[in-house]
Amino acid sequence: SKVKDMSAEVVDSNPYSRLMALQRMGIVNNYERIREFSVAIVGIGGVGSVAAEMLTRCGIGRLLLYDYDKVELANMNRLFFRPEQVGMTKTDAAVQTLSDINPDVVLESYTFNITTVQGFDTFMTSLRTKAFGPSKEGNGVDLVLSCVDNYEARMAVNQACNELNQVWMESGVSEDAVSGHIQLLIPGETACFACAPPLVVASGVDERTLKREGVCAASLPTTMGVVAGLLVQNTLKLLLQFGNVSPYLNTLSVLDELLPLFLSQGYNSLKDYFPTMEMKPNPHCSNGACLERQKEFLLSKPARDAAAARA
Ligand code: ATP
Ligand code: ZN
Repeated sequence: SKVKDMSAEVVDSNPYSRLMALQRMGIVNNYERIREFSVAIVGIGGVGSVAAEMLTRCGIGRLLLYDYDKVELANMNRLFFRPEQVGMTKTDAAVQTLSDINPDVVLESYTFNITTVQGFDTFMTSLRTKAFGPSKEGNGVDLVLSCVDNYEARMAVNQACNELNQVWMESGVSEDAVSGHIQLLIPGETACFACAPPLVVASGVDERTLKREGVCAASLPTTMGVVAGLLVQNTLKLLLQFGNVSPYLNTLSVLDELLPLFLSQGYNSLKDYFPTMEMKPNPHCSNGACLERQKEFLLSKPARDAAAARA
């Protein structure tokens, strides 16, 4: 038989033991902290659903899932959803699959449009709910992942996160399905979504190739899988504080101290090219909450300098 010889190395059947090996190998200091974090995922489509599955398999503490749409047969060229789930809301179908994969994760399903007045209000309230882990002291979630496919929804996430001083990551895939990007947004510290046209800057793709209303966009499970992988890899680095970090990007947010070196990561599948760049906030940003956060960040400079000197 092909049964592995277990005598040399004890490998138990608990999936967490493989994750805990990250700690033994010196990659992560305290992997178990993953169970204390809450992550909100807005848009449970080609990227968001895969990101949710990855975080579920990694043992994240709590996932808040937002989407107004239902599963369609046309979604079957992507990963995650199954034909028998057609007609279910994406959030409910996701909860069904994810709770089977890992019953330890607290899953919350929010089925509404975040861009309506009422939807935005419910979105804000849900992000503030302090129900879990160390988040009880601060915002209700540790990170927001934007996995939507349109400008209005990204602007709504941007508005909510600027108002709540909430760190978030943006993601997207181009209309022709061959490039994508992720971007880290720290209110007041990096460019917000209204400060610059980040999609274009990040991916180096022409703005005209981004998804437009009424256009039948192409999609590939491969590009969406890569973007979801980049998004969750950087989520883990940010929450568990490992990997490529830049000491001068000191934030006073819940995440504190160490942040990944990149702020924006593009992916061009045709050229196998991953351009990286940083984006400073725009002092003339049209978003009022962004300007307030920028002011606070500047005022906190002496405290940050003192902390850096002590370190
Ligand atoms: P396609 O447009 O190619 O048919 P899709 O609509 O599933 O696919 P994706 O890019 O795979 O698009 O996923 C984006 C997800 O974000 C969708 O599930 C969509 O319903 C969700 N979404 C977009 N805007 C909002 C919004 N304002 N509120 C809640 N969810 C949203
Ligand atoms: Zn801004």
